[in-house]
Amino acid sequence: MRKRKIEFYKHNLSLQDKQECLKVLNSLFLTTGEAVKKFELKFAHYLGLKYVVGVTSCTDALFLALKYLQIGKDDEVITTPLSFIATANVIEYCGAKPVFVDVEEETGNIDANLIEKAITPKTKAIIIVHLYGQMCDIKKIRKIADKYGIKIIEDSAHCIEGERNGVKPGALGDFACFSFYATKNITSGEGGAIACQNGKAYEWFQKARLHGMSKNAADRYSKKYEHYDMEFLGYKCNMSNIQASLLLNQLDRIEKISERKEKIAMIYNKAFSKNSHLKLLKVLPESKHARHLYTVLVIPQKRDEYLHKLQEKGIGVAVNFRPIHLMKYYMKKYRYKVGDFAIAEKIGNSTISLPFYPKLTKEEIDCVISTVNSIVK
Ligand SMILES: *Cc1c(COP(=O)(O)O)cnc(C)c1O
Repeated sequence: MRKRKIEFYKHNLSLQDKQECLKVLNSLFLTTGEAVKKFELKFAHYLGLKYVVGVTSCTDALFLALKYLQIGKDDEVITTPLSFIATANVIEYCGAKPVFVDVEEETGNIDANLIEKAITPKTKAIIIVHLYGQMCDIKKIRKIADKYGIKIIEDSAHCIEGERNGVKPGALGDFACFSFYATKNITSGEGGAIACQNGKAYEWFQKARLHGMSKNAADRYSKKYEHYDMEFLGYKCNMSNIQASLLLNQLDRIEKISERKEKIAMIYNKAFSKNSHLKLLKVLPESKHARHLYTVLVIPQKRDEYLHKLQEKGIGVAVNFRPIHLMKYYMKKYRYKVGDFAIAEKIGNSTISLPFYPKLTKEEIDCVISTVNSIVK
């Protein structure tokens, strides 16, 4: 086979996105201003939610949600071990304790049936992750959360376009946090947003992202000058107009991007379902999958060998994710060990993420398929 390079990810920025960004670069305000406002309104409309606040990352969005809930020392927050480390790290930033709950074997999402057992009087919130773009069982989780009076934060870094039984991210959770990091479905290189239905939280997030200041730079400058005050100790994670400008047109195209990725997923599914040496996670009939990542599961003993062979053949690969509880820091701090969350470990040790983005050509897709099938056998 001819050796070629198929990147793991290529962004999808169009000329229009770049022109929109150039408008900002040629304007007065590079920081938070008109473009951010426009993006927030547009994104809230897309999600069917009342409020969106633009921040610099999903990590910041998750952190602000926890801070708004006043989560701190002696509190516990339930989450999944099968995610990017950010999901648990934000709990650590607050001085609270992440309590992991194992995932479903079929989907890799947190197992809603195991959540109640993990709830203690210290539990204040739960951060769920819509893994790879398929939503968790949000209806069931909402019921449990209401029964115990705990809040739900949706780590929706993988899931903007997804739905489950017609429910979108942020509709049943208290807060939904999004990422526009370099490899996400829509991107501004770095960026994030927090969405909610709660007006009081919205006002707090707007200030909390900028030191707790009562007026931002654009407000002070464009209107009659008014002194700012600092109402509380906030943070520094406001989205810039540069970031927002890159996202505006991508939001218009998001369904198209999603349709293209769904098509690629179907081609992959069809080709890989014939290979008995690999397995695919299930997409539930009630799900509209946001199709962020495409993963295949292979036998754990051979996973790393396959990864390296795919790389040698020029196929970009990644692992999403090695379970968080087995990261050095978490093992040391909380004495987690292998076997504690067996299903998350099983998926984490078997998974390979393949190239999956709208710019993939038919030839590249065919090449990924034939290379995978020639290695995993
Ligand atoms: C990417 C990612 C994050 C972090 O997003 P940033 O915008 O880089 O902070 C959080 N959670 C999950 C599941 C992710 O994949």
